[in-house]
Amino acid sequence: GERPKTIGEVLQNSLEKFPDKAAVVTEERALTYSELDARSTVIAANLQKHCSVEKGDRVAVIVGNRYHFPLIVFACVKLGAIMVPINVKLTADEIGYIIGHSDVKALISEADHFYKIEAIQEQQPQIIPTEDHIFIIDGVNTFETLLQPSNPTTKVDIDELDPAFILYTSGTTGRPKGAVLSHINVIHSLINFQLTFQTTPDLKTLIAVPMFHVTGLVGQLLHMIYIGGTAYSMERYQNKIYIEYILTYKINFVFNVPTIFIMMATEEEFKNNSFDFVTKVAFGGAPIYQQTFNMLKEVFPNAELHNAYGSTETTSPATLMPVSYSESKGTSVGPAVPVADIKIVNQNGEECPIGEIGELYIKGPMVIKEYWRNPEANETSFTDGYWHSGDMGYVDEDGYFYICDRKKDMINRAGEKVFSIEVEDMLKKHEYIKEAAVVGIPDPLYGERVKAFVVIDHFTEADVPSIKEHCLKHLAKFKVPELYEFLDELPRNASGKILKYTLKNRRN
Ligand code: ATP
Repeated sequence: GERPKTIGEVLQNSLEKFPDKAAVVTEERALTYSELDARSTVIAANLQKHCSVEKGDRVAVIVGNRYHFPLIVFACVKLGAIMVPINVKLTADEIGYIIGHSDVKALISEADHFYKIEAIQEQQPQIIPTEDHIFIIDGVNTFETLLQPSNPTTKVDIDELDPAFILYTSGTTGRPKGAVLSHINVIHSLINFQLTFQTTPDLKTLIAVPMFHVTGLVGQLLHMIYIGGTAYSMERYQNKIYIEYILTYKINFVFNVPTIFIMMATEEEFKNNSFDFVTKVAFGGAPIYQQTFNMLKEVFPNAELHNAYGSTETTSPATLMPVSYSESKGTSVGPAVPVADIKIVNQNGEECPIGEIGELYIKGPMVIKEYWRNPEANETSFTDGYWHSGDMGYVDEDGYFYICDRKKDMINRAGEKVFSIEVEDMLKKHEYIKEAAVVGIPDPLYGERVKAFVVIDHFTEADVPSIKEHCLKHLAKFKVPELYEFLDELPRNASGKILKYTLKNRRN
């Protein structure tokens, strides 16, 4: 049939075919396609009634992998409102920035994170919506208000180019940037996943990565809704439970970051059970080691293996490994997704010949047009519609891409991205730290760990616990350096630039 034009139509299409099938199954409850549709309509009506959320308004959401999340997604989509899912691990400072910058009209949060909202209320009351625009799951100003029977809203006209989500990603300039994902961006990614993985309605996936990140949201949740499959989800990742769920629910589409596959491999249940019912295994978010890849081939003998490379700005996949690919492609991330165009570009902005390493420039209908209210980032991140990925790699004669390195100063810790500058800025705010540089140190489980090199005033008592405590007050835990080294000075080149490469390869 014709492709859907809005995310609302994505649900509508599957609803017509599978009204009574489970769309989403969380630890708390299951939602059929009709329940997902009916309840999200009620939430939409209540958001309009209680805080007049209209098309284009932002709604911030601090919710983990619970059934409320997909309900809010479709409530926002139906209103033409822009959902701003926020990483629940962020601190009050970090969340405050996002809420202020995206200028939200309503806020929905789990009770667990209410203390952060209170902290923001205290420090920056002007950026927090008024009390009656805040809805807390299991809390005082309750989420239940949004589930009360209410007259449906009048149908909102939504264009495929209208924004659907703003996903904040940290950046190389310090403050996070809001990637604006339009309906068309998301729909193209859904089509790309479906076509390349050849996914069908019998698929069941288990979402163990957060739904507030692009892969959990588009690659798993919305992908299942699009094809009429079922998305199971877990709130908190635990090895044993993840394996148990796969076995119990016969999850046949497994999608995760490499670190989790490495962790799973250590469990007895993983070694002693057969996973021959799994037909699709996808991995992405970080480079995969050859031995992890080999392990997957063994454990999932009947599965197609799909490497998925992309980023928030490409609405998840930019390249995908197709079915029945050739073994000779090793750990290639696959060819560009349909209709996309990827160039390998050298330092002078010229296109590199086949086999030569350069930066990946990515263009296509799944690439964002802009960052939210950020002319500076919009100016520097795009050239003729190509988004500068900051990833270094090459393409072979068959059009298969390989990722080798990174140009952006970012650390990839088990798929969670940490931008060095954000951590360095925080370290430098510590009263006794004179200089700081943060790099990723290779790690067999996490891929990389965050390491800080610091120069302190010799006559002070700055020590690791005090530095950690200082960072934890303002930065999410996954960003706080786990490893420290104190230096008399940082290595610099003639023009004063810190030599991160030297630090990375330093032996103590
Ligand atoms: P998610 O945030 O849902 O994990 P993501 O990793 O695709 O999705 P980002 O968090 O924006 O999106 O991170 C994008 C970066 O992750 C890329 O620029 C690249 O450095 C790295 N990356 C993503 N997928 C792969 C992959 N398959 N192989 C190597 N690196 C990858």
